[in-house]
Amino acid sequence: MAVTSSATTSGAATSSAPVAAGPLRSFIAGHWVAPGGRETPLLDAATGREVATIADGELDIASMVDFGRTVGHRELAELTFHQRALMLKALAQHLMSIKDTLYPLSYATGATRSDSWIDIDGGIGVLYTYGSKGRRDMPNDTVYLDGPAEKLGKTGTFYGQHLYTSLPGVAVQINAFNFPVWGMLEKLAPAFLAGLPTIVKPATASAFLAEATVRAIVEAKILPPGALQLLTGPARGVLDHLDERDLVAFTGSASTARTLRRDDAVIVRGTRFTAEQDSLNCSILAPDATPGTPEFDLYVKALVTEMTAKAGQKCTAIRRALVPESLREAVIDAAQDRITAKVRVGDPRTNGVTMGALVSTAQRDEVLSRVHQLIADGGELAIGNIDRFAVTGADAEAGAFLPPILISSPASADAPHRVEAFGPVATLIGYSDLDHAAELAARGRGSLVASIITHNPDSARHLTRALAPWHGRILLLDRDDAAESTGHGSPLPHLVHGGPGRAGGGEEMGGIRGVLHHMQRTAIQGSPNLLTAVTDRYVPGAPIRTRQTAHDDIPWEHPFRKPLSRLRIGDAVQAGPRPVTLDDIEAFAHTTGDMFYAHMNQQAAEANPLFGGRVAHGYMLISWAAGLFVDPAPGPVLANTGLEDLRFITPVKPGDEITVILVAAQITPRETDDYGEVRWATTITNQRGETVATYTVLTMVAKQ
Ligand code: NAP
Repeated sequence: MAVTSSATTSGAATSSAPVAAGPLRSFIAGHWVAPGGRETPLLDAATGREVATIADGELDIASMVDFGRTVGHRELAELTFHQRALMLKALAQHLMSIKDTLYPLSYATGATRSDSWIDIDGGIGVLYTYGSKGRRDMPNDTVYLDGPAEKLGKTGTFYGQHLYTSLPGVAVQINAFNFPVWGMLEKLAPAFLAGLPTIVKPATASAFLAEATVRAIVEAKILPPGALQLLTGPARGVLDHLDERDLVAFTGSASTARTLRRDDAVIVRGTRFTAEQDSLNCSILAPDATPGTPEFDLYVKALVTEMTAKAGQKCTAIRRALVPESLREAVIDAAQDRITAKVRVGDPRTNGVTMGALVSTAQRDEVLSRVHQLIADGGELAIGNIDRFAVTGADAEAGAFLPPILISSPASADAPHRVEAFGPVATLIGYSDLDHAAELAARGRGSLVASIITHNPDSARHLTRALAPWHGRILLLDRDDAAESTGHGSPLPHLVHGGPGRAGGGEEMGGIRGVLHHMQRTAIQGSPNLLTAVTDRYVPGAPIRTRQTAHDDIPWEHPFRKPLSRLRIGDAVQAGPRPVTLDDIEAFAHTTGDMFYAHMNQQAAEANPLFGGRVAHGYMLISWAAGLFVDPAPGPVLANTGLEDLRFITPVKPGDEITVILVAAQITPRETDDYGEVRWATTITNQRGETVATYTVLTMVAKQ
């Protein structure tokens, strides 16, 4: 391969980041440990200069695992989800304040500034998201309830409830080389929130950046002891120490995943194993997106972005570009024009460079061998002269450079659906109609992401429904969402990252889903009283304390008079009865303007099969219920923030009477405020004891 270099290195960001002398260390049981053994240099991807060394000596993995299971677990178990979430937020703020020290090391992995931003700032962004979601979407508790209690017996003495608890072991997180910071933090955040100590094993090629990040985390002293340990070096025996208490979250190649899946830890000792691995993601240009439409331009832009960002070393990059056969040449021409105009390959520290180096020359050679496989299977090199291309600001022979490469393959080719070239490489394939496009997409045998570029709702619906079973995420891109779209290749902490089949069958992030993957779900069966005690959430039928049920020795007090410090689950108020008249219904209709016939038109209401006569407005009943249960004087209840799960069950007619019972069902103090949320289970009944309506009232209540 002959490449040309230009000597236009600018002064921008040429300094190297400091790395501690000697081989990269591991952080084991609270101590930084330098391994013995043979040292191998880790090279700057663009210059070939040594950045650090890594040693292959044995590390005391047994102690690490034990420290996580004992000290780490004990420390985390003392924290609620909200307290852990606040630590993640503090960690995000700390890493944001020192991130500039990580960028020079990121350049040494071959990443440009914008690649590094995805890795470093993107990883910090995941911490922020979990820091916020952990407090918004989880209780201030150490267990998480999955769904409502299920009534299992006719009379209501036997219920079931799904409950998540923290696993008793450690999460061993084995990461790929391409996102040393994001890849680590997107696994750490949900595991930490779940109360599971992490042992992170970064990929060797970029371990110097992962090590520097862990060093910054440890120095911040925000996470409790044992919550995070670091294992640098090959760590080939790490699974030997794991059993049913533990979890392995792997990201990397399908072949390594296969080896680890077959380990005795997984198949004999029951260690949980999830994998995020190779993926031959596709992007489909729909037939309506012809040249001249905004969608055609969006397609070409996304294709070039995904080929060049991180030099194509992204598990989510577009590997297969599926376009109408008639548009094949138009797409190639437009992609070539964009690459010529926008892409400069070179040292990421050089001004003007938009695409850096691959992580190592070994990785570059691996990608080239895959390119040759794609060509051998009928592909033509449509874009990218792999024998001669310009490299800016670097010695082209010393660095691991490649140009963007687009291979045009026939629809009959097999290799594009089988061979992953983990670099700036995509294959273009023509399809005949939408079903053919969907069939080609499915030949990837399960992928992380597909994008469909169309402004046609029918095409979007047809393709999405056909592709969804084969994908973890689908992006629908058109002129309407383009400005805000986060793009084909960006996994988001709110959304699931992972895919079926070849992509590994794993699932990471996805908001709280990702936390729950690190916990054990257990179905708990029992009486309402015992389930309420176990879950800290009121189960219908558990004892309540109303004025009517109070004993003389414990006098009843209206629960709205009680701050969080004194309020208990089961504190309740029963109020009523209040009779309902036709005049009340008419007055409510005239006040609100809601003159719906079921309330106001005798004849029409009688003909209604559900009512058989005029009925009260449901909204009148819940307003009246509030009038019955509220204690009006100023007190600890600060606000009513909403209602949830409102159901109108039995209609109320003139002459009926309503009674309401309001029970404190769940109490969630906030860590950072003087108040918290109280959820009240509310039931309205009529004079026959029939349930009229059920709902949950949400309030904010002061702690003192
Ligand atoms: P890899 O060679 O499979 O290595 C992945 C990780 O596994 C590295 O940390 C590696 O350590 C470690 N490892 C390898 N063999 C091991 C063993 N026997 N026991 C314990 N650890 C072992 O993959 P890679 O080259 O780093 O990454 C590129 C691949 O990752 C591509 O195929 C890409 O598609 C995939 N990827 C997938 C995702 C995703 O989310 N789905 C994300 C990024 C990358 P050493 O580095 O020390 O060998």
